[in-house]
Amino acid sequence: MEGKVNNAPAIGIDLGTTYSCVAVSNHGRIEIIPNEQGYRTTPSTVAFVDAERLIGDGAKNQVAMNPANTIFDAKRLIGRKFSDSKVQENMKLWPFRVIEGPADTPKIVVSYKGQEKEFLAEEISSMVLGKMKEIAEAYLGKVVKDAVITVPAYFNDSQRQATKDAGTIAGLNVMRMINEPTAAAIAYGLDNKSEFVGKINMLVFDLGGGTFDVSLSTVEEGGIFEVKAVSGDTDLGGEDFDNRMVDHCVSEFKRKWNKDLAGNQRALGRLRFACEKAKRILSSTTQTSIELDCLHDGIDFSMKFTRAKFEELNISLFSKCIETLEECLRDAMMDKSWVDEIILVGGSTRIPKVQHMLRELFGWKELCKSVNPDEAVAFGAAVMATKLSGSNDKSIQDFVLLDVTPLSLGVEVKGEVFSVVIPRNTQIPTKKFKTYTTAKDDQYSAEVKVYQGERAKSTYNHLLGKFTISGIPPAPKGEIQLEIYFEIDPDGILMVTSKIISNGLINTLTIATDKGRLSNDQIERMIKEAEKYKLEDQEYKQRVNAYNDLEDCLYNMKKKVTEYKLSKRVHPESLKKMENVVDETTEWLRNNQLAPISELQRKKVIMEFVCTSLG
Ligand code: AMP
Repeated sequence: MEGKVNNAPAIGIDLGTTYSCVAVSNHGRIEIIPNEQGYRTTPSTVAFVDAERLIGDGAKNQVAMNPANTIFDAKRLIGRKFSDSKVQENMKLWPFRVIEGPADTPKIVVSYKGQEKEFLAEEISSMVLGKMKEIAEAYLGKVVKDAVITVPAYFNDSQRQATKDAGTIAGLNVMRMINEPTAAAIAYGLDNKSEFVGKINMLVFDLGGGTFDVSLSTVEEGGIFEVKAVSGDTDLGGEDFDNRMVDHCVSEFKRKWNKDLAGNQRALGRLRFACEKAKRILSSTTQTSIELDCLHDGIDFSMKFTRAKFEELNISLFSKCIETLEECLRDAMMDKSWVDEIILVGGSTRIPKVQHMLRELFGWKELCKSVNPDEAVAFGAAVMATKLSGSNDKSIQDFVLLDVTPLSLGVEVKGEVFSVVIPRNTQIPTKKFKTYTTAKDDQYSAEVKVYQGERAKSTYNHLLGKFTISGIPPAPKGEIQLEIYFEIDPDGILMVTSKIISNGLINTLTIATDKGRLSNDQIERMIKEAEKYKLEDQEYKQRVNAYNDLEDCLYNMKKKVTEYKLSKRVHPESLKKMENVVDETTEWLRNNQLAPISELQRKKVIMEFVCTSLG
């Protein structure tokens, strides 16, 4: 039997809320792979246009023209329920439509090729991951299969699982999922390895487009990365700052013109784009302006924006970041004076106020900006991918990663009380169990609800799933013991099993919790659809190329005919024939804009043949 050889190296992907980045180990060095435009990060945006699907820069660049069919922020939806308050809040700001699908799943609705189509967040993320895979394949000239994908440290189990599914749908073998701040710590640690003496305490402050993560780890000289604590907010980032700017502009517009922009999706899309640009400018200057012609009802919009105003609008969000960081220090039982390095990751850490607040907290200590905030996460992911593929580079093989689970995991007991089985910041992988007893006489089954979160009342936490333990032998209440095992794998994904212990007999059950996950069948179907979309995209590009080739050919032939007419080099009859072919083909192209590729190519061959044989 012959095995298929795929010698493409494994890649590391930072799947960001607003931008994604891909890296690979090439000739012993980690390289960030530029996309076809030469940019080292690619917008996590997917757009559906009349005839084609665009992913990345192409999608982002046309957002103002096509806001309802341009999808961004899939990371804010992934692994969440439609009824989630954060989803409901975000929905008010998205120019695209999100509806409630079966089992409270959010579905994104777009119009594509004249039809209404619904997508899950996993599918949109898989399109972005597929794009990053293609970028790597174009660079390496090989088919890429294996990848390490990063997730916010503060992602819960559902969000992690859904991200892994997105990778599978994109045709990737997800070797491991690692936490974003951990990946950045690895990037920093490997870069500065020679300077380490003993142990250092490292803080990674990662404020991106849609998520905020903070992690405290200890790095030892030999390359042991031990994460002590993580904290964060999976729904806080640069886009929230943009939103506050947009809201401010909307109210200014209303105040000045007594007209409401809300509801004008195109105007809001243009405003959002302009605000994001202005925000970036305000990181290096103290004042800028937003100018938009004909924004709404024919009115031009023009407004000065100062850095002070930007800070005033967002100060509560910046303070939230600092409070979260203080909580992380408490969890790690670390005094702020023990922190040796403060590493900034994520584009939003470029905001001067954020840097100022951090320096103030740490006694004006210098912040480390030596790692590129946009690229460090992908860099670290590529290191991990290289290690998992069995690289023989000693510095990569030597490093050991000890990560933690960000949120406590447990079950609901009587009175909606949350009984924690694995506390937050426990090192992973791990397996722990707790023993519970029956609550009633002759109880033959028990419903187990699995939650993740930090609140004492179970229902305030995130319900991961539920299952029923059945077949409990009859016995008075409290006599039967039920052991519930929680196991977290290296990806941070949970598996729950239970045992019924009665009369010394152990009954082991493996429970497939209903975690709202995609079934294997659904994933299979989505993989097929993803391939179909990819083929459609390729065909579209080929058709556009064939169309353009025929147009170019027509142009050249017309030029030739004019030349021959002037030079009188060609017999008038032949010239007439050439002219006829050119005219006929021009007319045909006008009436057959959607002709198949083979027809377009055939027309070109005929035209070339006639013109060269007569000319
Ligand atoms: P990331 O997801 O880490 O790529 O971060 C992207 C976020 O960083 C987006 O919200 C950007 O608007 C924001 N960002 C990038 N550069 C700057 C900058 N110079 N000042 C403020 N925010 C920025």
